[in-house]
Amino acid sequence: MVQNRDPLAEDTIAAISTPQGRGAIALVRISGGRALEILRTLAPELNGRLPRPREQRLLRIVHPESGELLDNALVSLFPGPNSFTGEDTVELATHGGVLTPQLVLAGALAAGARPALPGEFTRRALLNGKLDLTQAEATLDLIDAASPAFHRAAIHQLDRSLTRRVEELREALLNAEALVAYGIDFPDEDEPPVPQARIVDAVREVRARGERMLRTAPEGALLRDGAMVVLAGRPNAGKSSLFNALIGRERSIVTEIPGTTRDAVEAEVVLDDYPFRLVDTAGLRDTGDRVEAMGVEVARRYLAGAEIILYCVASGESLAAEDRRFLEEVRSPSILIVGTKADQRAGPSEGEVEISVSSVTGEGLEALKERLVQLSFSNLRSEPPEAPVVTRERHARALRRAVEELDAFLAAVEQQVPAELASTHLAAAGHSLHEIIGTIHPDDVLGAVFSQFCVGK
Ligand code: GDP
Repeated sequence: MVQNRDPLAEDTIAAISTPQGRGAIALVRISGGRALEILRTLAPELNGRLPRPREQRLLRIVHPESGELLDNALVSLFPGPNSFTGEDTVELATHGGVLTPQLVLAGALAAGARPALPGEFTRRALLNGKLDLTQAEATLDLIDAASPAFHRAAIHQLDRSLTRRVEELREALLNAEALVAYGIDFPDEDEPPVPQARIVDAVREVRARGERMLRTAPEGALLRDGAMVVLAGRPNAGKSSLFNALIGRERSIVTEIPGTTRDAVEAEVVLDDYPFRLVDTAGLRDTGDRVEAMGVEVARRYLAGAEIILYCVASGESLAAEDRRFLEEVRSPSILIVGTKADQRAGPSEGEVEISVSSVTGEGLEALKERLVQLSFSNLRSEPPEAPVVTRERHARALRRAVEELDAFLAAVEQQVPAELASTHLAAAGHSLHEIIGTIHPDDVLGAVFSQFCVGK
C-alpha cells in the first residue's frame, strides 16, 4: 500500500490537537518511532516502565531539561500498528487554556519530537494503510461540517461508503476486462468466445452506476459551500425582514460583505438539516431600481451565483414594471416569487406569487424553508442517509473521466473495433476509479488534500 516512503515520516511528530483558547482540556499528540521514549522522558515517575496500552494514567509531566513541573496530564498510549497513525502514539490530555498545552508541547519537542505539519497525523495514517484517501478527506469534512446533512455525508464516507461503492465499480470493470481477456486468450478452444453482448452489458451497467453517483455531485458540492439564496426585490419589499426571519432563531453567522459602500449581508444558516447561504442585497439597491442600478458588480455576481433567487413582492401588490424588467433581465430558472407581508393583505395573492409569507407572524416561513430545501437538495433527500455522496470536485472529475472512458469503449465496440483493443479504455476507467480511493496517490494530490488540514489532525 505504501508506494514511496515519505522522508518526513521518519521523524516523531507532536502537536496540540485541540483548538487554541480557554477550555477545560487540551490534547497533545505525539506519533512516531520515538514516541514512547519521549513519554518516558516527560514522565520520570514511570521509571522507564510504560503504562498499559489504551489505559489512561495520570502522570506528572516535566520539562526534560529543567525538570520543571508542566502539568498533571491523563496519558494514553497506543502502540503501533494499532493506533490512528499506525505508529506508536502517545496522547496527553492536559489542562486546557493557552499556555499549559504549549508548555507540554514544548517539553515533547525538547525531548526529541518535531512540530507536526498540517494534517500530518492523518497523512501518516494514510501512508500506513489505516485510511484511504476518501477517508482522510472525510476526516477533514467532519471537522468542517456545519450542517447535519454534510455531517451525515462525511461520517458515512469515513465509514467507507464511497470507497465501497467505488470498489464495487472497479470489481465489475475487472470482471468485464476478464471477459474480454477470456475472448482473447482462448480463441481456438472448443468453448465459444464470450458473446460481446455480455461484455457490453456489463460495461453499460458500470457506466450507469457511475453516472448515478455523479448525479449526487452538484448537490454534494452545495453541502460543502451551502446553497446560495439571494433576496431581491424593490426597496421596502420586505427583503431584510425576510432575511432576518429566515435566520431567526436558527444558529447563523452573519457577515457584512465588503465590496461596495452599501454592503450585502450574508448569513450561513441550516434549514431542515441542509446548509444555505442567505444573501440580502437590499443595501445595494437603495439608490434605484433594477439590475443596472443595483448594478454593482457585487450584486451581479451574487445573482449569477445564486442557487435560488427569492424575488420579494408585497402580497396583494401586482408586479410593477420594474419588477418585470428585473425578472426579464435575470431570467434565472431558479427565481421564486415570494409574496411578503402576508399579514397585511387579506385575500388571495397575485397570480405570479408562488408562496406567501409574513416575517411578522411567521406565516408561510416553514413552507418557504421546505421549498428551498426541496429546490436545492431534492436528490440527496431522496437517497438513504448512508448512500455515498460525491462532495468533492476531485471525486467528480475522476468519476467523469471513468464514465468517458467507458463511453469510449462502448463507442469503439460499436464501430467494430475488436474488444481486446478497446479494452484499454476499461483499464483507463479502472485507473480513474482507483485514484478516488487513493491507493495510487501522486504527491500533488496528497499535498492538495493535506494542506487543508489543521495542525494536530
Ligand atoms: P427591504 O427594503 O426590501 O429590505 O424591506 P424591509 O424588510 O426593510 O421592510 C420594509 C418595511 O416593510 C418595513 O417597515 C418592515 O417593517 C415592513 N415589513 C416587512 N415585512 C413585513 C411583514 O411580514 N409584515 C408586515 N406587517 N410588515 C413587514
